[in-house]
This record gives sequence, structure tokens and C-alpha cells, in this order.
Amino acid sequence: MRVEENVTLAPYGTMRVGGPARFFTEAHTAADIREAALFARRHDLPLFPLGSGSNIVVSDEGVHAVVLRMATRGTAYEQTPHGDAIVIAAAGEPWDGVVAETVARGLGGLENLSLIPGTVGAVPVQNVGAYGVEAADRIIWVEAFDAERLAHFVMTPEECAFGYRDSIFKRGGGKNLIITRVAFRLRKDHAPVTEYADIARYLADMKNSNPSPADIRDAVTAIRRAKLPDPNEIGTVGSFFKNPLIPQAAYEELKERFPECPGFPADGGLVKVPLAWILDHICGMRGLKDGAVGAHERQPLALVHYGGGTARSVRAFSEMVRNKVHEKTGIMPEYEVSFVGRFD
Ligand code: NAP
Repeated sequence: MRVEENVTLAPYGTMRVGGPARFFTEAHTAADIREAALFARRHDLPLFPLGSGSNIVVSDEGVHAVVLRMATRGTAYEQTPHGDAIVIAAAGEPWDGVVAETVARGLGGLENLSLIPGTVGAVPVQNVGAYGVEAADRIIWVEAFDAERLAHFVMTPEECAFGYRDSIFKRGGGKNLIITRVAFRLRKDHAPVTEYADIARYLADMKNSNPSPADIRDAVTAIRRAKLPDPNEIGTVGSFFKNPLIPQAAYEELKERFPECPGFPADGGLVKVPLAWILDHICGMRGLKDGAVGAHERQPLALVHYGGGTARSVRAFSEMVRNKVHEKTGIMPEYEVSFVGRFD
């Protein structure tokens, strides 16, 4: 295992900001992960797992930790007695490659989650979701490595405590776990999930009333390409904030002031309000730019870094956005992205 010192992390995150990792190493095998944990212990530093950095913003001062870039690869397929298929993927696998492979095998389940940047290991962390499907709907188990006990163990979905863009891996002791493999349930006769308006419209235009997983993947891919910033072209971590979940009464009040404001029923009698709509129609922030940072022209929930900016400027812009939303609506948006390192 090769360990480097003071490696700038900006190129390892899709927002393209961030200072150095005190130590930086890559894991290609389970032995590498164990060795990195022992190295971190010897230096009395935390071990910080990194995928493709597509949902984090690293501070300009960097991370005082052993950053472990997960480069473990491999997928395996199994059959269940109930006729389901299971794909087991290593944490370092690029997520969209896994989705593409399942779809190419004619297996349904992950197609709505097409073209999401990132690695398999990052998927359970924020319970990635898109177009009516959440990772938690498909995950059977998550294998993790506990750097304290130097042991691998398997977690059930209940133990992962999945919530809306949330899981145990974002909180407390869960942050210290290194996700090593994830198993997803797939089906040959999978019922397509097509209720999101963009998907329904795309399929209607294609006159396709019985879409296969490949058709849905095509739809999602085309819609995302048309609407979302491409991390290969511009600094972005996708949605920067979660859509707020608010009580029905608060939603009614919002509707009185902004009758067009959309809302979708969510768990616990709450209403999910698309924050992109608020940013666009209430705050006038679509395409807003301040120096090197802005809210994307087609999807303002995605903040973008045009280059030459800092993590501090990204943070300042995002705080300005939150405060503006709060001032206009009384809602304080929660971050979907994770900030790493010091921002005070
Ligand atoms: P959209 O279709 O314009 O809809 C706006 C928001 O309203 C969505 O975020 C979605 O919430 C909610 N919504 C729309 N139709 C809904 C329905 N039928 N039932 C329940 N909720 C509904 O959204 P978009 O910005 O183009 O994004 C499309 C999908 O891709 C969304 O699911 C979004 O979360 C996902 N996405 C995720 C990221 C990321 O970085 N995490 C980035 C881009 C897009 P939900 O977000 O809860 O689905």
C-alpha cells in the first residue's frame, strides 16, 4: 500500500475545490483497507473513505485524516429461490456502470437511478434516489468495515436506518464505517416506476406504454443530460440541498402565498416541496451567479463551480441560498451534500 502526504483533494471531488489530505492512499483489496486502518491508528488519525467525491465539499484547509480512496472493483450475480436476482457490487465500482450492466442483462430495479455520478459505496450513504426509486427500496444488505474492530460485517437495511437522502452512515459512529460491498435486489419481471412527470412525458412522446428497464434507462439518461450539469464539464455535486419535508399546515400557508407551489405527499403526513421550484419562482435564483459559484441555469438545486473558486466561496453561496429561502418562506433547507473539514 502506497501512502502519500498532503495530497490536494480538489481533483478528487466533482465540485473541484478543497485542500490537502494529511495522508492519501487507495484501496484495491480488503487487505489494503485493513492496512490503511492500521496506518490511521498508528498516526492517531481518522480514516476517511472517498469514492468519486460527488456528494462532498472538502474545506480549503483540507482533511486531517487518512483519506482512503475506494478503488475496489467487481460485481457478482446470484439467483434467489423466489426468482429474484441479486447483484453484489464492490464499493469502488462506478455506480452507473453497475446500473448499465444490470439493465443490459434485462434485470429491472436500478434503471431509475441511471447516470447518477459516484461509486457504489456512496449510494447507501445518502440513500440515493431519483424518479421515484430510492436505493433503500433495492438494497438487501450492506457490507462494512469497522476500522475500530478491524472487522467486516453485514448490515440489514434496518440497521442502515435509511431515510430521505439519509442513513446511519451520515451520522455519529456510522461515519466511521467503510462501506465495502452492497447487494441489490433485481427482477426480470420488474414493474416499471414511471410516475414522475418527466419520465411519463418522455414515454408518452415515444408512445411506449410498456417500457423495459432499458427504455427507462434511456428516458432517465436523456432527461438528466438535458437538465443537469455535467460534472465532466463544470464543478457540481448534483442536488446541494434536500427537498424540504414540511407539515401539511405549513404547506397550506405556503400555497396561500404561492398558489402554484407544488407539493408531494411524504411519509408521516408531511409534504415534500421541490426546493428547485422555490429557488426559481420565489427566490429568483435560477442561473444566479456570484463570482465563481452559482445556481445552475436549468436546475437551481444544483450549485455549480465555474472554476477558480474556493470551498469557502461555495459554502458562502450555499449559506446565502439557505438564508434567502428561509427569509422568503420560513423554511431552512437542509444540506444534502456533506461538508468535510473545517468551515468556520
Ligand atoms: P423534478 O422532476 O423537476 O421534480 C422536482 C422535485 O419534486 C423532485 O426533486 C422530486 O422529489 C419531486 N417530485 C416530482 N415528481 C414527483 C412525484 N411524482 N412524486 C413525488 N415526488 C415528486 O426533479 P428533477 O430535479 O428533474 O430531478 C429528478 C429526479 O432526480 C428527482 O428524483 C431528484 O431527486 C433526482 N436527482 C437527484 C440528484 C442528486 O444529486 N441527489 C440530482 C438531480 C436529480 P425527489 O427528489 O424526492 O424525487
